[in-house]
Amino acid sequence: MRQPLVAGNWKLNGSNASIEALLNAIIEGSTALDKVAVAVCAPYVYLPGVNDLLQRHLSSIRLGAQDVSEHSAGAYTGEVSAAMLQEFGCSYVLVGHSERRALFGEHDADSANKFAAARRQGLTPILCVGETLAEREQGATEAVVARQLDAVITLTGVVSLADAVIAYEPVWAIGTGKTASPQQAQDVHAFIRSKLAEADTAVANGVQILYGGSVKGANAAELFAMADIDGGLIGGASLDAQDFLAICEAGNNA
Ligand code: PEP
Repeated sequence: MRQPLVAGNWKLNGSNASIEALLNAIIEGSTALDKVAVAVCAPYVYLPGVNDLLQRHLSSIRLGAQDVSEHSAGAYTGEVSAAMLQEFGCSYVLVGHSERRALFGEHDADSANKFAAARRQGLTPILCVGETLAEREQGATEAVVARQLDAVITLTGVVSLADAVIAYEPVWAIGTGKTASPQQAQDVHAFIRSKLAEADTAVANGVQILYGGSVKGANAAELFAMADIDGGLIGGASLDAQDFLAICEAGNNA
């Protein structure tokens, strides 16, 4: 039985004051949720403050970053290593988010190197995969997702996905208000699991596969009810404590 996970991706949003208020509300509202794991992925500069606040409240909410360098140290101005993230309490890190791929030129191989860097340091990567609208319309969804997964499997082996997290995020559903239907999402999640099962059934059965793309309190329960959907990666709605908590509750009841 896979534990559901709901992870918020705050993206490039917030200030010291707004993040403190948001986090306090999430901490308070999630204390009774004992079945779902909850995580928040904060911008780098807020990680120490968020980590301090979570520790002060003895909160079980886990901390994540939104990106990581593939390098461990050296002349890479602007980069942040997996070891640095770990020092500030991160247990998760997003890898290969579609915004990194589309806006910052991150290729499958770069995402795979970041995945490897996270794993080397003991962080749990949340590997984001998903197709654009054009790719879906060409019938290429499975080929795209398979290619993105294969980049990681080729570099680090299928076993590196054991205890990792995969987030299926159709690009056309991110921040657009257009959610994949539960069946559309389930079909891709089942494809991912069956692809992994060809290499290793234990890995396929154990890996958490989150759905991301315009998840809200109002649609979370029907998505999380699907057999291969193990929770959600939440963008916009994670900035609203009440909406995020409603999604967490749907995860808790899944
Ligand atoms: C995301 O950024 O990963 C995401 C799923 O965003 P949203 O929930 O806003 O679609």
